[in-house]
Amino acid sequence: MGVVHEPEPLAFRVRPRPNEAFDSWMDRLTAKHEVTRAELFRHLGCDPRLGLCDLARGWQGMAPAVYPAFHQLIETLAWAVQARTRTIEATFVAVPELALLPPALRVFGCPLCWREAQQAGEPLILTRDWILRASWMCQRHQLPLAPVQRLVDGRTPRATARILEMQVDAMHALRRRYPPTPVMLAFNRSVIGAMLGQAGAGLRRGEFGYRSRFTANRYHLARARIALLAAAHSERTRSADRFEDLVGLSASALLRSSANLLNPKARRPDVSSGPTVPEGLVTRRINRWQANLPDLIEAYVLVKRRAMTARSSASQDQNGDFAEICPQNPVERIRSLSAPSPI
Ligand SMILES: [Zn+2]
Repeated sequence: MGVVHEPEPLAFRVRPRPNEAFDSWMDRLTAKHEVTRAELFRHLGCDPRLGLCDLARGWQGMAPAVYPAFHQLIETLAWAVQARTRTIEATFVAVPELALLPPALRVFGCPLCWREAQQAGEPLILTRDWILRASWMCQRHQLPLAPVQRLVDGRTPRATARILEMQVDAMHALRRRYPPTPVMLAFNRSVIGAMLGQAGAGLRRGEFGYRSRFTANRYHLARARIALLAAAHSERTRSADRFEDLVGLSASALLRSSANLLNPKARRPDVSSGPTVPEGLVTRRINRWQANLPDLIEAYVLVKRRAMTARSSASQDQNGDFAEICPQNPVERIRSLSAPSPI
């Protein structure tokens, strides 16, 4: 007769804050208990393999075969922190996978929101709208977002305050340089509201085009993601337009190119030597990517190759049935988390 594992309540009842994204809450919960996500799930008697999946989309990201395990996880997490099940489910963003930033890039937030939270002694959280690819501006402060989580990770409270204040200044400067037009702002608010399940007033004239362009945009392939989005929403769209032309290149077009960039033997992408300008200080040169065109093309190729590798390794995975429930290959996700890169 085997040992029956009884789940235990958690020592620290870290609950989701209003509008907090699932990953943000999970990161705070696991950090408080100094465990990995898989360790936490195992401790609670849930399937630890779920800890390797991208759970941000909730039920929408799950295959039907895994619904029972996922249901148990949500119920158990709610019990473990003494919250309602619907409080846990409210952290999910039920959108198509391409509408979300890749997990390793869910680091963008409003530096002013974070500065105010820090001053009020509240936790620094990422809200659900900030992990959307279409999101680039704080709806409350009308301030462009910065990669705040990455910038303050592991910093002391004092250093965090200084970094956030610098980011607030930098984002004010960015907004002055690329003031968004009222129409683009309205489109952006409407698209984000729709994805978060908020009732809207219906599509306005021109909004369909905006949605198809920005809902699953690829601006995150560039280090200056926010600056490019700010430009795209302003009257000065030239650099953003050029970037879209570039990342619109298909894999087959790259294969046909004389550089043969998709052949790893012919060319070795190396994105480790990124730009030297500190992240977030993106206001200096909006067209920075133009100066690093080869780097950007190589980064795009790396993404394409990763996607191909993920597909082939998923089909060879011994746990093939489980690989299918993870929209993103867990191995790839771990790699991307352990070695964050601008792509
Ligand atoms: Zn804000």
